[in-house]
Amino acid sequence: MADTPGLPAELPARKTIHVDGEWRAATSGATREILDPADALPFALVAEGDEKDTDLAVAAARRAFDGGQGVWPLTPVAERAALLRRVADLLVRDREELGLLESRDAGKTVEEGRVDIDCVADAFRYFADLVAGEAPGRVVDAGSPDIHSVVVHEPLGVCALITPWNYPLLQASWKIAPALAAGNTFVVKPSEITPLTTVALIDLLAEAGLPAGVANIVTGPGHSVGARLSEHPDVDLVSFTGGLISGTKVAQAAAPTVKKVALELGGKNPNVVFADSCATEEGFDTAVDQALNAGFIHSGQVCSAGARLIVEESIRERFVAELARRAERIRLGRGTADGVECGPLVSEQQRSKVEAYVDSALKEGAVLRSGGKRPEPSPERPEHGYFYEPTVLDHCHREMRVVREEVFGPVLTVETFRTEDEAIALANDTEYGLAGAVWTADAGRARRVAGRLRHGTVWINDFHPYLPQAEWGGFGKSGVGRELGPAGLAEYRETKHVYQNLAPKPVRWFAG
Ligand code: NAD
Repeated sequence: MADTPGLPAELPARKTIHVDGEWRAATSGATREILDPADALPFALVAEGDEKDTDLAVAAARRAFDGGQGVWPLTPVAERAALLRRVADLLVRDREELGLLESRDAGKTVEEGRVDIDCVADAFRYFADLVAGEAPGRVVDAGSPDIHSVVVHEPLGVCALITPWNYPLLQASWKIAPALAAGNTFVVKPSEITPLTTVALIDLLAEAGLPAGVANIVTGPGHSVGARLSEHPDVDLVSFTGGLISGTKVAQAAAPTVKKVALELGGKNPNVVFADSCATEEGFDTAVDQALNAGFIHSGQVCSAGARLIVEESIRERFVAELARRAERIRLGRGTADGVECGPLVSEQQRSKVEAYVDSALKEGAVLRSGGKRPEPSPERPEHGYFYEPTVLDHCHREMRVVREEVFGPVLTVETFRTEDEAIALANDTEYGLAGAVWTADAGRARRVAGRLRHGTVWINDFHPYLPQAEWGGFGKSGVGRELGPAGLAEYRETKHVYQNLAPKPVRWFAG
């Protein structure tokens, strides 16, 4: 196994279930090896929790919410905000180590890992500022000087937070930061294959002064820990980020207890390129570069990946030829190796899934323009790592599975259009609706198309940026609810109307 500068080859074994301020092994004693996707070798050992551990964690979060040690829900907002800012400072302090850990765990490049940690710190700061700057309630005019009526927001209770493997700590922070800002307690369940940075964050929360029992974590699989959290009668909200199939199961498991459910699911995101955006050399270079970034950053394992290139027919050949040429030059390798631009896929299972999609596309008539196979091993690409070449599939159409379903890998499909209406129809022809982009030099067209795209985020002449201040989430089967922005905080709150009569009198509805 290669050493990662800054990290030991194997991390010391540790207890990774955190309940009521104590680190524990799994009740069953089970453990799981965490594999490095770059060489398929284990480098860490974590506790493999199950339903029993989940029940213990929920009970701790319940006690902490209902009046346990520290009374987090009643802690003044200014103190909660100050704690979140301390967490952001600690994340900055540990940025290098956490960025390396994220890279090693999820297979992304170290630079991507560092950027993730910066974004995590930003999320904590954003929600700290948001709650600190809020009015305590909204006074409602009840039409009488004798009535004082105010609408207030209160913490929801115990939140179950279930997260995926592609942006492990970032997705966790979009839930943990608003949950804490709003005064809740929580149990987080990270993906069983990438739990390490979320475990590390729990230590930082304690270091920042969060009372015991407020933040709990159970490492373990979705079918036991995740399913139990979703159905648990003492959980008030389940906020889930992951795939459509698991998200549907979460919603079903949660229904009998009528808990609040927030779902951030997959996407099949269109990147619409009009010929006018490529009229100059600079415009062409930018649109191609960004199409490459849209499709292949983190090997396409991004919910908002621009996996569907929808390009105007008149520039198709030039655009796709240049895209394929640049895709072939992407430097694949271990995320911690110098000069590497793209890491491996996260697991063998994920790579097999990608291979099956490419095979089916080729059988259905797609034309391979780049990639389509595993790369040769090299010094920065160990033989057993889960690498797959950036793949461009031309001549695709919407009946193909590869165009309709989320591949979640480095596979970019090409479709073409001749008119604006056709471009919009193609871009909206998906059961998902997470994100999409339009490239054009015509400002009027940009606004028209953006207005008609049925996606939760629309980029005009850009791809991928998000802002913590702006809501993130999807239309259609991309989910329910929003993360980030004020709506991302509202998910973690109850709304209460307090109506106070300052001069009570009998109503005399009943004569007696
Ligand atoms: P996944 O659905 O396999 O797993 C996500 C989480 O759910 C994991 O922690 C897993 O253990 C858990 N889980 C699995 N089955 C469960 C069940 N029955 N009950 C409760 N929990 C269960 O997803 P993944 O493969 O880890 O992540 C990739 C998916 O996440 C992609 O579809 C991607 O688009 C999506 N994603 C969406 C966003 C977004 O913002 N919309 C962001 C990142 C990832």
